[in-house]
This record gives sequence, structure tokens and C-alpha cells, in this order.
Amino acid sequence: MRVIAIDGPAGAGKSTIARALAARLGLEYLDTGAMYRAVTLAAMQGQVDDADEVAALSRGLSLEVGERGVFVDGVDATTAIRTPEVTGAVSRVAANSGVRAEMRARQRAWAELRGGGVIEGRDIGSVVFPEAELKLYLTASPRVRAERRVSEMGSGDVDEIERAIAARDHHDSTRVDSPLTEAAGSTVVDTTGLTVGEVLDQILRLLEHA
Ligand code: C5P
Repeated sequence: MRVIAIDGPAGAGKSTIARALAARLGLEYLDTGAMYRAVTLAAMQGQVDDADEVAALSRGLSLEVGERGVFVDGVDATTAIRTPEVTGAVSRVAANSGVRAEMRARQRAWAELRGGGVIEGRDIGSVVFPEAELKLYLTASPRVRAERRVSEMGSGDVDEIERAIAARDHHDSTRVDSPLTEAAGSTVVDTTGLTVGEVLDQILRLLEHA
């Protein structure tokens, strides 16, 4: 299996880089944040709040995350999983150990089926694929990460987004089960002030020496 693990806080450029890197290497790409978002959306829609019930719901969900978009029980949820409501609720659902166990199993099965892939999230190098060929921790200054999010969304208040991102990162880094952290053996890449091409070049050089 050839796995490239990319972790880091919100807005560090993980998705953009992971997608571009996967295309360069001829691998598939998996956005694991979309999986936690999908479970959050389903829990909100079903008004399920109890931790055990949310975990059970996650086990029964049909989830498709790929090139075509994100499908939850066959319904296109590509845009619905990116609303501020889901973004505000996802960290709590992602701290649920039952949900995490289920998502981890699905992520490993996804990679086994494909002989690996470029996989991005929060705990990929630390917990899901500690044996990955290359583990990257992508980051950038909080301001730049907030600005990127605003430009992705097309509008929004940078200060407000920066505060929301800081709150989500804090929640993700301080949870008990597989918190966001720099995995052992990972390389930190600070993307502040770098173009996508420059980040990619840096990663390709790291891969040559991996
Ligand atoms: O990457 P994205 O910002 O879409 O991730 C949404 C949320 O999903 C994160 O804030 C985090 O709570 C959760 N997540 C996680 N583990 C991962 C990927 C995402 O807990 N591997």
C-alpha cells in the first residue's frame, strides 16, 4: 500500500494539496473531513444527539466520498456538508469514539481496496495510517487560513472566520480520542506565503527522500 498522509488544522490547504498530489502520483484522494461532516449532517437531519445513537447512525450510513461529490444514503450532500451549521457542529461529532472507530475502519478499507491513496484529515498519520510512506503536517498562520476560507466561500468576515477556525482547531486538538497533532515522523510544511505549486514541489522533494 502506498499511503501519503496529510494532516493539519482548518484552512491549511490540505484538500487542494492532497488533490493535486494525488493527480501527480496517479493515486486516488480521500477527504476524511467530508466523512465526519456527512455523519454530522445526518445526525442533524435525524435530530439524533445521544452519543451512542450518533455512533449507531454512523455505522448504518451509506457514505460515498469521491470525485463525483459526497453522497449520504444516496442523496447528494456535497454542498449541504459545508454549511456554517455543519461546520459549527462537526467537532463534537468527531470527538465521538464510536463514530471515529467506524470512520477509521472505512478509511482503512478504502485504502486497501485501492492499494493506497493520498488521505487528508486530522489523525491520518498519527492513528489511521502510522506506517504511511510520507506523513505531512500542513499548517499556515491563522490569518492566512481564515483568508483562504473566506476566498473559498466567496464572502465572509475574516475576523469572524478566524475565531471560528480557532475554536474548531482547539476542540479538535484537545479531544481525548485521536486529537489533531503532529504525528511522530511527520514533516511540517508551513504553507503561509507559498503557492500551491511551491508546496507541491516541496512535497515531491520530500517523497524522493522518503
Ligand atoms: O477537513 P474539514 O475541515 O472538512 O474537517 C471537518 C472536521 O472533521 C474537523 O474539524 C474535525 O473535527 C473532523 N475531522 C476529524 N478527523 C479527520 C478529519 C476531520 O476529526 N481525520
